[in-house]
This record gives sequence, structure tokens and C-alpha cells, in this order.
Amino acid sequence: MLTGLNFQAPCIEMSNLNNLWLQITGLTCNLKCRHCYLSCNPANKTKNFLNLEKIRKAMDRVNKNELEEIYLTGGEPLLHRDINNIIRFCIKYTNVNIITNATLINDKKARFLRQIEIDSDYEIIFRISLDHYKEHKNDEIRGKGSYKKILNGIKSLVNNGFNPIISAVDLWNEDEAEFRNGFFNLLSEFNFEPSEINLKTIPVLKTGEYEKNFSGYEENDFVTAENIKNCTLENFDCSNTRVIAEDGVYVCPALVNDPRGKIGETLSDSPNKFFLELNTCFSCQHANKKLFNNEWKVS
Ligand code: SF4
Ligand code: SF4
Repeated sequence: MLTGLNFQAPCIEMSNLNNLWLQITGLTCNLKCRHCYLSCNPANKTKNFLNLEKIRKAMDRVNKNELEEIYLTGGEPLLHRDINNIIRFCIKYTNVNIITNATLINDKKARFLRQIEIDSDYEIIFRISLDHYKEHKNDEIRGKGSYKKILNGIKSLVNNGFNPIISAVDLWNEDEAEFRNGFFNLLSEFNFEPSEINLKTIPVLKTGEYEKNFSGYEENDFVTAENIKNCTLENFDCSNTRVIAEDGVYVCPALVNDPRGKIGETLSDSPNKFFLELNTCFSCQHANKKLFNNEWKVS
């Protein structure tokens, strides 16, 4: 990773905190993907898990009228032993998105979570990481056997009435329509009619394992006032998002493993302004779309 900062970087100001991310399992994951921009893996214990007590305290500082979505993330959030209580607590406020690799979801788990959703006024939305509709391509990145486990997880969710979103990292630069159709055909095999919202493709973030196994950012991969002119600032996740991790507040999910992304200890002492001076911000500018948050507008 380049360590220099871009001192001409434009600054972005968070308008409202619409999207609250909770990094509940730090950087611990049951998989060890070769492109993981946070370098999560089973042995990564560099960040502690976030407990329900801390989540309650953080929620006390959130303006509930502005809140649209809560996202549970890690690492793998389903590794949290208190996950059911965390979901029950969060869904009292708004929709709960679970950012998961789905390998820990079986029929029993899906049925149980579906009941929580039925008993609530809001939805549980699963966003499942699957990088390719072909088994060998997914498994070369996410590990041998992961494809089958992920598909079993998706099947359990669909069988229990969920409408999961597939999140695929755009690693192969394939024809967009073909890539999309490949996923849609796969999802159709589960007795499920996918629509546009069921596939979210995201660009690579060249940090962590991606940098080690593929390549990092180039020297000039920075956001500048000039090249940001063609972007819609609302598309930058940091314009309406914050992440609560065990060790403080981070500006966005891309930077939870970077001390420069930490902006405060609590939401009350975190500034709304952030300078887009990190290389990762260049990926947001280049994509000019929401990398992390749902792309539909909650009414
Ligand atoms: S990319 Fe996701 S599933 Fe893979 S190691 Fe990282 S957090 Fe885990
Ligand atoms: S990485 Fe993207 S979302 Fe995060 S601060 Fe930079 S521009 Fe904003």
C-alpha cells in the first residue's frame, strides 16, 4: 500500500447518517479469500468482536429518523456467538443487512432468522459474497469447496422466503451482460426469479490480500478536485455512512483496517468531514457508484 497522502484531496461532508455499519466480528472470517481487501481470515484476531452492550451505546447516539439501513459485517458476522440477539436488537430500528459468505447458513438457521423477520416490521436482507457463477473461478479466489457451501446457503435462504443479493467482485473484467446473465441463470436454478437488485458487482479494492496476491494502487491513483467533477458525490458511501467497530468509528467499510480511516471514538466525537486522500478513495471515484450500501433508495 502506498503510504503517502494526497494533500490536494477534496473533502466530503456526511449529510445524514443513513447507513450504519456494525463491524461485529472484527477481521475474523472462516474463509481466507485471496482478494480480501481487509485480510480477514480465521486466525486474524487483530480486532475484537463488538458486543451488544457497545452496539446499544452506539445506537443511543444515532438519529433514528435519519437511519435507513443497518449492515452487520466483519469478517464473517455469523461467527458472532450473540448474532441472533444483535439482529433482534437492530431490527427494532430498521432493515438489517447481513454481509456474509453464507457458508454458515443452513436450513435451520435460515428458518430461525426468517421467523425473526416475520415477527418484525422490517426486513433481513442477505448480501452474499460469490465471485463467479462458475465453480472453479469462485473457488480459485474464495477457496476450494466454498462455491458449494455458498450455494447451499443461498438455497436455504431462498427456500425460507428470503430474497438474497449476490455481491461479486469484478475480478475478471468479463462482458457485463454475460456476467450478469451467468449469475441470473444460476439463481434461476433455485426456483427464484432474480431482478436487477439481486446482483451487486463491486470493483476490486487494492489493499490487504488483493495487494499481496495481485497488485496495489499506482502512484497517481488518488482522487483530485479535477477528476471528482464527473462524479455524483451522493454515490460515495462516506456521504451518508459510518462504521462502528470495537475500537471506534470509521468513515466507511473500506477503511476499517486502516488507522487513517478511524475518525473518532464515538459517533458524537466523529467529524462529518473527511478528506478523500487515500488510494482506496480512488476506487470509489473510478466506480462512481455505491460500493457498499444498497443502491436502491429506501422510501
Ligand atoms: S472477502 Fe469476505 S468472505 Fe472472504 S475472507 Fe474477506 S471477509 Fe471473509
Ligand atoms: S474509500 Fe470511498 S467511501 Fe471510503 S472514504 Fe474513500 S471515497 Fe469515501
